[in-house]
Formats: sequence, structure tokens, C-alpha cells
Amino acid sequence: MNISLETIRQRFKDQGLKSTPQRTAIYKALVETTSHPTAEDLYRHVSQDYPMISQNTVYYTLGVLQQARLIREVNVGHERARYDGNLSPHHHLICHDCQSIVDVMDKKLNEISFPTGLPTGFEITDYQVEFRGYCKRCRTQKA
Ligand SMILES: [Zn+2]
Ligand SMILES: [Zn+2]
Repeated sequence: MNISLETIRQRFKDQGLKSTPQRTAIYKALVETTSHPTAEDLYRHVSQDYPMISQNTVYYTLGVLQQARLIREVNVGHERARYDGNLSPHHHLICHDCQSIVDVMDKKLNEISFPTGLPTGFEITDYQVEFRGYCKRCRTQKA
């Protein structure tokens, strides 16, 4: 999904973040892909336009964006963290073999009622369902 620089600037502003060109580029790349990239993937992508950017800047920026709740982290077992710029309620299909992460939208999954009788005072704010299995490509290779 394409996102305009205007929208990015506004979102940053709402969260009290400065819109630096590199920060904007990283966020834009993340919102516009559905591949749930790693920090390294984003670094490779953004450094095409910003050859001076360092890997540390990318890591740091991802931390800042996550703190501001503009992006979220998706964990695939012990693999490197993956990032998601899509904050609308959605869930994931995760392949055991190739670690691909595919978005799933299903209204029913957004209407799960929160468990009751939780340990003292815990407040649930959101949740995410992960379905794990094998993608078509990996299933074909297995056969
Ligand atoms: Zn796969
Ligand atoms: Zn996602």
C-alpha cells in the first residue's frame, strides 16, 4: 500500500517524532511492503537511496518507530525479528520452512473475546493470531 510523505509526516508529528529523511524512508519502506522484512532487509532496501545510512541507524530507527507504536515486531521463533508497518488488525500465516509471513484478514479473528480471570490487574490491549504451517512452495518441494 503506497503511503504519501504527507501522511508519514503527520503520523510522525502525532507521535512527537521528527521526520528525518532516513527515518521517513525506513517507515515508508515498511508500510509499503507486505513481506515483514528483517532489519537487514530494510537496510539493503533503504541504502539504495541513502548509501550513507548505517545498519545501526536502521536498528535504532526501528526501535524508535516501535516505541512510538507506528510499527510492530513479529517474531518467528528464534529467527531474527521481523517488522510490520501494517497496524490494522490482522493476523499471520508463518511457514516453518522458509519463514515467510503472510497477512491474514478474517473478521472473526478480530472478535475473539479476551480471557477473563487474568492475573492481578493485567490489562490486555491487543492480540495477534499466528497460524503456523507450510506455504505452497515449501509443500511442493517436500512432495
Ligand atoms: Zn515456506
Ligand atoms: Zn502483518
